[in-house]
Amino acid sequence: MKAISILGSTGSIGCNTLKVVEHLGDTRVVAMAAGRNMPKFAAQIAQFRPELVSCDDGSCAENLERELHSYGAKAPRIELGPNGLIAVASHPESETVVSATVGAVGFVPTLRAIEAGKRIALANKETLVMAGELMTTAAVKCGAEILPVDSEHNAIHQCLRGETKNEVRRLILTASGGPFRTKTKDEISKASRAEALDHPNWKMGEKITIDSATLMNKGLEVIEARWLFGFEADRISVIVHPQSVVHSMVEMIDGSVIAQMGVPDMKHAIQYALTYPARQENCTGSLDLAKIGSLEFAEPDLDRFPCLGLAYRALKEGGTTPAALNAANEVAVGAFLADQIAFHRIPEIISNIIDAHVSTEADSIEAILKADEWARERAIMAVSETAVAV
Ligand code: MG
Repeated sequence: MKAISILGSTGSIGCNTLKVVEHLGDTRVVAMAAGRNMPKFAAQIAQFRPELVSCDDGSCAENLERELHSYGAKAPRIELGPNGLIAVASHPESETVVSATVGAVGFVPTLRAIEAGKRIALANKETLVMAGELMTTAAVKCGAEILPVDSEHNAIHQCLRGETKNEVRRLILTASGGPFRTKTKDEISKASRAEALDHPNWKMGEKITIDSATLMNKGLEVIEARWLFGFEADRISVIVHPQSVVHSMVEMIDGSVIAQMGVPDMKHAIQYALTYPARQENCTGSLDLAKIGSLEFAEPDLDRFPCLGLAYRALKEGGTTPAALNAANEVAVGAFLADQIAFHRIPEIISNIIDAHVSTEADSIEAILKADEWARERAIMAVSETAVAV
């Protein structure tokens, strides 16, 4: 039996991971962490019986014990907060850590798992955006393997199997274009929360769904690709592909383009990361291209979707700028989801913050967390200045 830990088990990726674990049959979950959704967490614990679990705080733990009692299940060892996440990430028995928390909170726990030499099935792209250099350097040093669960990067990982890096011309990330692909700039600027959450192809958590609507998700993925595969910004392109069938592509120096295709279901990428280098029977169905009929492609529009350009800018500036971009985005998206700001304020707030950010070397946890905190505070101020206007 393979042993895994899951950070963020009650989220979209976490739940899909548990479905894959059930399907594979040769994998057990030794530790898992969730935030505050204790009814769901208790049901998962009762089914998968991990040895260690973690949740946000003491009141969550009390709720969890109460919920577990109703299943007649004995509570496992419970840890709390950031230290709990680290304990789950570095559980001595787990060989693979599925890093699926949302946002910056996953950074230090994922780094600890890397330092413990574990395989990382990485869904938490924000950690690489913030600290790509630190994490990839630590992975090389500690012999940890990072396998992308993000569908685009998972696709590129598959396209690059057996290829040589210096024979690659560029990476091509596909973007669905999100719910506003065909909307005008004016319509996008006034978009409601419900419209922004209505993603055409993928069922995901709220934060990433808003990131898909602004195209910041694709921007964060460009930065993620830079660190996962070692290509500079000018060798990473984005193409809009509304069907989400081609999950991404690699263009070789001889002009060959290798694409990975499949049904848009995250269980595929999760299973690939858990079983790599082996492939196993899937539980997600086959791709029926005849039924889909046609595949479309278009250039992304940076005027209507400025967040993508902001992410390229942050990547080119380097240092702590991507960490500041990520933190500003997390705050702005949170404020939009809380109905505190209008949709068009998301790129405005991020742009102002990276304009003001003085980038330093992103060579330590402290430097990265300092930039994250600085940008977060500034973004909160920017939100409160305009919140009343909505
Ligand atoms: Mg993705």
